[in-house]
Amino acid sequence: PYDVLVVGGGPAGASAAIYAARKGIRTGIVAERFGGQVLDTLSIENFISVKATEGPKLAQALEEHVKDYDIDIMDLQRAKRLEKKDLFEIELENGAVLQSKSVIISTGARWRNINVPGEQELKNKGVAYCPHCDGPLYEGKDVSVIGGGNSGVEAAIDLAGIAKHVTLLEFSAELKADQVLQDRLHSLPNVTVLTNAATKEITGTDNVNGLTYTDRESGEEHHVELDGVFVQIGLVPNTEWLEGTLERDQVGNIVVDKRGTTSIPGVFAAGDCTDSAYNQIIISMGSGATAGLGAFDHLIRN
Ligand code: FAD
Repeated sequence: PYDVLVVGGGPAGASAAIYAARKGIRTGIVAERFGGQVLDTLSIENFISVKATEGPKLAQALEEHVKDYDIDIMDLQRAKRLEKKDLFEIELENGAVLQSKSVIISTGARWRNINVPGEQELKNKGVAYCPHCDGPLYEGKDVSVIGGGNSGVEAAIDLAGIAKHVTLLEFSAELKADQVLQDRLHSLPNVTVLTNAATKEITGTDNVNGLTYTDRESGEEHHVELDGVFVQIGLVPNTEWLEGTLERDQVGNIVVDKRGTTSIPGVFAAGDCTDSAYNQIIISMGSGATAGLGAFDHLIRN
């Protein structure tokens, strides 16, 4: 059996595995897709001390760093069940069962897609999901934000400071964000808010050039010219497979304490799959390190 088995091979999982392996304990890492969300990222400019890099480059650096240690890497394997027996058992989709004295879950999250024509085709070509990451690419340009909840309105406020103009589209009749955020949004001169707006298509050939939406009141169709579209309709943690095992919050984020401990002693979690306040590479690496050290602490006490 492993001493520490990490499930998830993004920045959080890589960091957790390295911290565990550096304690000289038997460490394994199972990942559906090593690199995680970083693989889908074009340019990264906020990974402190690396002024600018690209997602696939950083993902490769993560893997090389992990391979520097005696860590079993099981890539392209998806975990489907966690169970506590004498040891913890992780069952994979392919039927294999792995045993470990402790487990670190770092299965990350995925942006909720709007599923309209143009979204997949123009991803990273004007269709973006992370304003902290990609906002600065739209300096002086026209952008839209789809989604009028807290994350959409925060994104619109953030982007209004960078872009020339921001159009926010909300499907229902009213914005869902906190009132303070709505007040702040309405005070900005370069923001247009469209409610009852159902996005129909993101348009463009090589790059985004606009968006078509239906006004749900009048039934009329409109087209807005744009350089970028930020889809902000939620981030979904990859924790469905843990249903009924450990404590998760209303949206499915794993609840952890300051050592990364979950509601099951011996099971730790880190990164975007947890209830952390912000989701960023540098933050998930930090929480991965915390979980790695937390798991080691647990092992020497039990
Ligand atoms: P993830 O990166 O999501 O990794 C999760 C890992 O778990 C993957 O290996 C996945 O395959 C695996 N996995 C999932 N389910 C299972 C399962 N059941 N069994 C086994 N393995 C599983 N952040 C920044 O700091 N700067 C940026 O510029 C930036 N740009 C971004 C751009 C885009 C388009 C996106 C999508 C995100 C961006 N982010 C950026 C956010 C950043 O990528 C995430 O915060 C970070 O990757 C989270 O790391 P993580 O390890 O927690 O999860």
